[in-house]
Order: sequence, then C-alpha cells, then structure tokens
Amino acid sequence: MKIAICPGSFDPVTLGHLDIIERTADIFDEVIVLVASNRSKNTSFTTEERMELIKRCVKSDNIKVDTDDGLLVDYARKKGAVAIVKGLRAMSDFDYEFQQALTNKSLYPECETVFLTARGENMFLSSSMVKEVCSLGGDISSFVPEKIKEDIYKRCKGDKNYD
Ligand code: ADP
Repeated sequence: MKIAICPGSFDPVTLGHLDIIERTADIFDEVIVLVASNRSKNTSFTTEERMELIKRCVKSDNIKVDTDDGLLVDYARKKGAVAIVKGLRAMSDFDYEFQQALTNKSLYPECETVFLTARGENMFLSSSMVKEVCSLGGDISSFVPEKIKEDIYKRCKGDKNYD
C-alpha cells in the first residue's frame, strides 16, 4: 500500500489545501494529512480544532488526519510513507520547498517529495490571507468550504492583523 503524507499547519484549512489533499488521494492508496503541532508557532486554532476542521471537509475514504510534533521524516519512516506531497503556489514557495525537499531526501532517501501545482484560482490563497480578510469583515466564501466558514468568522472577525 502506497502511503503519502500532506504536511502543514492548516491554520485553518483552505480550498487550496483541500484541492491538494483530494488530488493526492486520487494518486495514492492512503493519504495522511499531518497537522504540525509545533508549540513554538502561534496558531489561531488549536491542533485539535485544525484537525477537526480538516476532517469535516475531506471527502475521500482513504484520507486520514493525524498530528505530530517531531521531525517529518521520522513520522514518514514510522508510517512507511513513500511520498511527502506539497502544493506549489507562486514561485515564492519554490526556494523554501526545494530546500526542505533536499533535506528530507538526505535524511530519508526512500521517501520522495512530490509537488502538485496549485490551481490557478488558489495560486495566491493562504491561511493567513483568509484570516486577514476575515478579521476585516470580508467575504471568505471563495477561499474555504461553506461548512467551516462560520467557525473561522467566529475566531478571526475583528481580530488582530495577520501577515
Ligand atoms: P500556509 O503556507 O498557507 O501556511 P501550510 O503550511 O498549512 O499553509 O501548507 C501546507 C501545504 O499546503 C504546503 O505544501 C503548501 O504549499 C500547500 N498549500 C497551501 N496553500 C495552498 C494553495 N492555496 N494551493 C495549493 N497548495 C497550498
């Protein structure tokens, strides 16, 4: 069974993330969406909340949601994953992702990093952009699924600036 991991902070999950996750589920037997629970990173949603929002939105049966606070390659090795799948947006993602992919490859050569290109309409979509629009009272309908929209409004509307 070929297992792929889609890692990220998902604070909160967006239509851009979900597109990558579902496309990964079409290619691999099983997908683990791995929510980073890095305590040093200030997130707007707790790890449990971020996981629950993802679970509510994913459609395919072969998608699981998990969390970890260790090294991604250690988790991948433990699960026997063959790939780490990342979404690539504009060129701005490239340098950082390339560096991470090379590091992970040297730490765990059996696991490949696979990049899926973001859809045109998601090219400039990020969690921080969603929170920024939300905090200023804007409409986030085209950025996140309807079923989690209210949760995000409740948390972020009128909140501080996100950058
Ligand atoms: P962000 O970069 O928005 O903080 P994450 O760290 O949660 O998001 O990202 C997890 C993964 O999802 C990364 O591989 C990232 O490139 C990808 N991703 C994020 N936003 C999008 C998008 N709009 N379209 C495609 N992939 C995306």
